[in-house]
This record gives sequence, C-alpha cells and structure tokens, in this order.
Amino acid sequence: LAEGAITQSHADDFYSFHIVRADLAKDVIDIVARFESEIVSLTDLIESSGECAQERGEQLQKFSSQLRQSAEQYPGVGAILEGVIAVTKSVREENQKLEKRLAETSTEVASLRTNIEHIQQEAMQDPLTGVKNRKTFDAAIARLVRASHDAQEPLALIMADVDHFKSFNDKWGHQTGDQVLRLVAEVMSANTKGQDILARYGGEEFAILLPGTSIENAVMLADRIRRAIESRRLKKRRTFEVLGAISMSLGLAARGPADTPESLFDRADARLYDAKRNGRNQVVSAPSANIAAEDRQLTT
Ligand code: GH3
Ligand code: MG
Ligand code: MG
Repeated sequence: LAEGAITQSHADDFYSFHIVRADLAKDVIDIVARFESEIVSLTDLIESSGECAQERGEQLQKFSSQLRQSAEQYPGVGAILEGVIAVTKSVREENQKLEKRLAETSTEVASLRTNIEHIQQEAMQDPLTGVKNRKTFDAAIARLVRASHDAQEPLALIMADVDHFKSFNDKWGHQTGDQVLRLVAEVMSANTKGQDILARYGGEEFAILLPGTSIENAVMLADRIRRAIESRRLKKRRTFEVLGAISMSLGLAARGPADTPESLFDRADARLYDAKRNGRNQVVSAPSANIAAEDRQLTT
C-alpha cells in the first residue's frame, strides 16, 4: 500500500465514529424536542394561571369595594380582602418572573437544537468530499425502494468507481488522489439535483439514487458524468504539473417490482463490475451478451 493509503481499520474507525455520532445526535435531538414541548406547555400553563390571577384580583377588588360600601358595620372585612388582593398581585409578579426565565430557557434550548442539528448534518456527510456518506446512503436506499414501490414510481441507481485509481495514487501520491476524489464528487454533484442522493460509498466509489427517474434518463445522466470526468485535464495544485486524465466506470440498475434494497444494489454493482471487465470508462445498464457467455464458460 502507498503511504497514507486507506486501510480497513481506518475505514472501520471512520465508520463507527460517524455512526455513533449520528445515532447519538438523533437521540439528543429527540430529548431536546421533548424538552422544548414541555417548556411550551409549561409556559402556556403559567400564562393562563397569570391571566386567572389577574382576573381574580380584579374580581376581588370589585367585590371588596362593594363590600366596603355596603357593610360598614364590618370594617375588618375590607382590610382582609385588601390583603387577599395583595397576595394575588404578588403571585402574578412571581409568575411574570418565571415566564421571563422560561422564555430565556427556551431561547437556549433552541440554540442547543441548532447546534445538534449541525452536528447531525456533519455526521451524515463524507468529510473529504462533502457528499453524503455510506451510512446516509444505506438509509436512503431502504427508504426510497419502499417509497417508489408504494408510489409505483421508478427508481434508478448508479454505482460509479474511478478506474485504475490505485496506480494513480501510487504515481502521484495520496493527497493528489484525495484532490481527484473531491473533483469527482464536484462533477457528480453538478449533475444531480432535487431529490437525487449522491453519496461516497467507499474509497473511490460513489453512488447516486435517482427517484422518479427512468433507466433511459439515468443512463444519459451517467454518460454525461463519464464524459465530464474523462474530459478533465488534471494538474497538480502548486506545481501545475500535468497529471493526465482519469476515467470512471458506471453500472446502473432500475428497481423492479420484486426488488429489495440489497437486490437493487447488487444488480447495479454487478453492472459496474461488467463495465470494468469490458474495458472501463463506460456505462453499463444491462448484462452484456459476451460477458454472460464468458460467465457460462467459467461455470461449465
Ligand atoms: P479499478 O479500475 O479496477 O477500479 O482499479 P482501482 O485501482 O481503482 O481499484 P482498487 O480497488 O484496486 O484500488 C482502489 C484504490 O483507491 C486503493 C486506494 O489506494 C485508493 N483509495 C481508496 N480510498 C482513497 C482515499 O480516500 N484517498 C485516496 N487518495 N485514495 C483512496
Ligand atoms: Mg477503482
Ligand atoms: Mg473501488
């Protein structure tokens, strides 16, 4: 392996770190959401009890002045009622303080929530390229296979892998390799939009989920990406040394009625493998005749 190359243990560390963070963030968000709704209902309660206290105070005041006028033979009653009114007033003031504290607390909780959402967002991304990571892809394919089945809508999957990337790394170094991966992600991202899910599936392998897209349109998109990648002339960042071109192989599959996320994935991956065996820098969406014949020879 070239120096700095990705090993399985790097990949495992990366995976568990981000998965643990994503799950953790999810739990914390749930807790904060519950906390927020508790605060809202408590605030409502206090506001309405404040209003009640005010109303009662006013009623008592009216009552007391009536009493004072009509019952002069009991001068003590008015004074007692004044006392009750004073207590009601102080309860109201305490309520207002509490309300203010609650408002401050909910502002703090809201900013906490924003922070956590930011962390969760980061945990869904591939740090090198900024596209979605494997974990996000796995969740998306499960969700989209189900949704497209229920809605009777098409779903296409593109699996794409950089050709001869190992020798590119060996020749130009891992850092330059990383730059290429960022460039590939940029080109792919520029060609996806809306509901499409673009993810870095692994090392130099990318996946695009295309909800509502026919296989014909997905093939056109895949070929546009392939041409965009092969036409890039790569240069080293500081020295402008010419690095030559790179290319990608792409395999496609469209969801069939009986597909599971795994079977859809396996088919796209098999087409990617066909594209590699057919000579790379190409898009394959159906099992090709000569490869099928080759397979038969291998198994008989
Ligand atoms: P093929 O055309 O059959 O795909 O050949 P390949 O050399 O691309 O395939 P192989 O799977 O043998 O090698 C993939 C290489 O990708 C190995 C590793 O050095 C490189 N790689 C994987 N992840 C990264 C990464 O994050 N950064 C860099 N720079 N290289 C990576
Ligand atoms: Mg490769
Ligand atoms: Mg690969």
